[in-house]
Amino acid sequence: MTERIDLDPADAPWLHTLVQRVRSARADGDDEEASRLVEYGRAEGGDALTRLFDQIMASLDERDAAHARGETMPPFAISAAAEGQLECDFCAALNPTVYFEVTEFGVQGPGGTFLSGDRFYACPRCRQLVEADDWKGMREWIGPKRFGLGSRMLVMGFRQHRKGGAVEFEPGTNPEASR
Ligand SMILES: [Zn+2]
Repeated sequence: MTERIDLDPADAPWLHTLVQRVRSARADGDDEEASRLVEYGRAEGGDALTRLFDQIMASLDERDAAHARGETMPPFAISAAAEGQLECDFCAALNPTVYFEVTEFGVQGPGGTFLSGDRFYACPRCRQLVEADDWKGMREWIGPKRFGLGSRMLVMGFRQHRKGGAVEFEPGTNPEASR
């Protein structure tokens, strides 16, 4: 019998729940169920969530391997953006136009601590909201449903670790490429 999976991709806990369910299916030796869940995640989650999912699963495997060696895993960086592609780190819009520098910080996520990176990219709308210090507006812009615990922790961390004003760059270029 195939159990109905009641997960909404718009909910922040969706990814977390999916990761936990795949892990517990694997722990039970039920590979068929694990693959079914992964396929479901790919179909429902879209590209960005699939990339996050893959990275989280890889980080958990790495953590388990580290634990098996009696070590702790170092913090792990994840990104929803495809290779060479930039996204607004607040609302995930493509083609951000500025970034804000931050002192890198860790965020507790499914399976461990994830690193914020030292730049937060922003689309024109999120740049305005950051510069206006309008965090209520940011929450509305991102959408209350998508603005889950992970987003709140990231935005809170951003506010505490931001180092300066917006740094503009040439539209269509990727400042990450020259680092
Ligand atoms: Zn944005």
